[in-house]
Amino acid sequence: MSFAASVLTLYPEMFPGALGVSLAGRALETGTWSLETVQIRDFASDRHRTVDDTPAGGGAGMVMRADVLAKAIDHASPPGDPRPRLLMSPRGKPLTQARVRELAAGPGAVIVCGRFEGVDQRVIEARGLEEVSVGDFILSGGEPAALVLLDAVVRLLPGVMGNAVSGEEESFENGLLEHPHYTRPQEFEGRQIPEVLTSGNHKKIAAWRRAEAEKLTQERRPDLPGALPQPLVK
Ligand code: SAH
Repeated sequence: MSFAASVLTLYPEMFPGALGVSLAGRALETGTWSLETVQIRDFASDRHRTVDDTPAGGGAGMVMRADVLAKAIDHASPPGDPRPRLLMSPRGKPLTQARVRELAAGPGAVIVCGRFEGVDQRVIEARGLEEVSVGDFILSGGEPAALVLLDAVVRLLPGVMGNAVSGEEESFENGLLEHPHYTRPQEFEGRQIPEVLTSGNHKKIAAWRRAEAEKLTQERRPDLPGALPQPLVK
């Protein structure tokens, strides 16, 4: 079963973009996943192919029209389509590796890319769009966010990554940031590879990596579930 992505956008030329090269690009060519882009503007009904209008209540910027977007969504995702409908949005639930895994295990995703100030609230409700954020910052459009989401999903699809283990031991999979990495040469500008890593003692190596991962998580991301409890200060 292959993962079917439909991306609704005013800039279809941004796709597949970065996803057309390397592992994701090969997987796209071999049919592990598919990518359809839908030009939202094709669903405008007036002569000027208008997709946006001024915000009700006044203020700066423009808002994407509910009626035009709904037609584009109904075309890409007719009733009965089992795929979740996502709207890339800074107001959305922050994307997590757990959600990425769920999406990768499913039939695909319909992804709406916003532009301007955002989209009319009524189409979000009427079409059951799940708002997804890629972080607490503002992009100029949803397209780079959609590329980020798809990149994270596609690398988890069966057969995309050569070494499946490296996917499972990565940051966030166990609530921890990953331990530091080293490779040859043994000495770089006076710095040695930590001795334990060249000891050949796999138990010790695993313990060292675990301890480093816990230390790093505690320092940088105490919010993650793998962070050690704070020592009690009396
Ligand atoms: N006025 C909005 C920002 C609009 S940015 C606000 O203040 O919340 C324009 C579009 O870019 C959004 O509709 C959304 O599709 C996309 N976008 C911007 N930042 C994003 C983020 N952090 N995650 C996902 N999508 C984002």
